[in-house]
Amino acid sequence: MIETTKIPFTVIGGGIGGLAAALGAAESGRQVYVLEQAPEFGEIGAGIQLGPNAMAVLDRFGLLGEIDKYAVYPKRLVLKDALTGEELTDLDLGDSIKEQYGYTYTVMHRSDLHKVLLEACEKNPSITLLTNQQVSKVENHDDFVTIECTSGEVYEAESLVGADGIWSKTRELFSQDEGVTEGYVAYRGAIPMHEISEHADFDDVIMWIAPNLHLVQYPVRRKELYNQVAVFKSFNYKKGKSDWGTPEELDEHFGKCCPKVQKAVTFMSRERRWEMYDKEPINNWTENRLTLLGDSAHPMYQYLAQGACQALEDASYLTDKLNEYGDEDINKAFNAYQEERMPRTAQVQKRARVWGDIIHADDPVARLMRDSYFKTRQSTSFEDVEWMYGYFKKSSLSYS
Ligand SMILES: Cc1cc2nc3c(=O)[nH]c(=O)nc-3n(C[C@H](O)[C@H](O)[C@H](O)COP(=O)(O)OP(=O)(O)OC[C@H]3O[C@@H](n4cnc5c(N)ncnc54)[C@H](O)[C@@H]3O)c2cc1C
Repeated sequence: MIETTKIPFTVIGGGIGGLAAALGAAESGRQVYVLEQAPEFGEIGAGIQLGPNAMAVLDRFGLLGEIDKYAVYPKRLVLKDALTGEELTDLDLGDSIKEQYGYTYTVMHRSDLHKVLLEACEKNPSITLLTNQQVSKVENHDDFVTIECTSGEVYEAESLVGADGIWSKTRELFSQDEGVTEGYVAYRGAIPMHEISEHADFDDVIMWIAPNLHLVQYPVRRKELYNQVAVFKSFNYKKGKSDWGTPEELDEHFGKCCPKVQKAVTFMSRERRWEMYDKEPINNWTENRLTLLGDSAHPMYQYLAQGACQALEDASYLTDKLNEYGDEDINKAFNAYQEERMPRTAQVQKRARVWGDIIHADDPVARLMRDSYFKTRQSTSFEDVEWMYGYFKKSSLSYS
């Protein structure tokens, strides 16, 4: 007979979403276990953008002081034409965004953000962090959740949050949906600033756009590193095949860009590429004592830089509902969380796709109309981003 270990409130996945959820559940007075498949908790070596909506959550968890040790606060978000080099529009990320939303726009190295969250979890006596726990099966019962790991370990959790990313095992309880791709692929990484400083912009987040491609650049880790993400549509994409989005295609796509962009791409590491997938929104991710959070609930394209921000919003809202319902009815707390978060995250998933279509537009008329609109915008006009960054203004959540 297989021995089962009883554990309390459990989170599967120790990414940004999972660790934030663990902090929130601990805040609500629970003992929490985090099960992570990797031998060590960590993140990949690239940057992350955090809108004011994410900074509000990090503030709520008391982490802004730690974040400040690594963060860069850019002055502007600039959109440029990658073919001509022309600046198309910008958004003021200085004082005006803080006045508007109460928090600054922040860019940082992913491993720095993850470290801040991990250290907060490690310091919290209510949180137990376990590595080498690759979950292979999750079974939902009325009063508990069974979790099987590939190591043979079996847990009986009092309740469960599946924060195990886009290829989530937990999501399989709700949907067998496959990832959706348009054949886009990303190359990314952070380069030591002294190697690239001649070609870097120290103050701004820059997004270069052109048909079927874009390049994002910004400094991270107190401006010691320069993050670059080069994304393009592979015309060799075929379902089930892996030989698409190659470094040769990267060079071919970016070879048609202006010299500054061409030069930037020479610094990209070609060792690893990320295939871009999202999924359709689903209409339920909660049952009994189990719910989903972050990419496992609502995987989205990264074009609006909101995936991790949404995972943080999830964690904040879940915390409020766990506080509100206490131990009496976890299912009510999970359902109330889902009711708020499902429409919000579905909207971001859908708009990320639309923004991808806008920045990658190939049609000359569509590009002309887009660029004329961009050129009429004021840099301190927040109308286009209000729905995204202004979430907490409308919600019942309040922050100190
Ligand atoms: C190129 C690119 C750029 C991006 N830029 C931004 C940005 O600027 N801003 C932003 O907000 N978002 C951005 N995103 C999106 C963001 O990275 C994700 O939305 C975010 O990391 C999701 O966090 P998560 O914790 O839900 O999932 P993940 O980060 O995927 O974490 C899941 C965790 O679960 C673990 N796990 C998985 N399966 C199992 C299992 N079976 N058992 C146990 N553990 C398991 C994994 O090892 C991992 O630690 C970007 C994404 C990409 C691809």
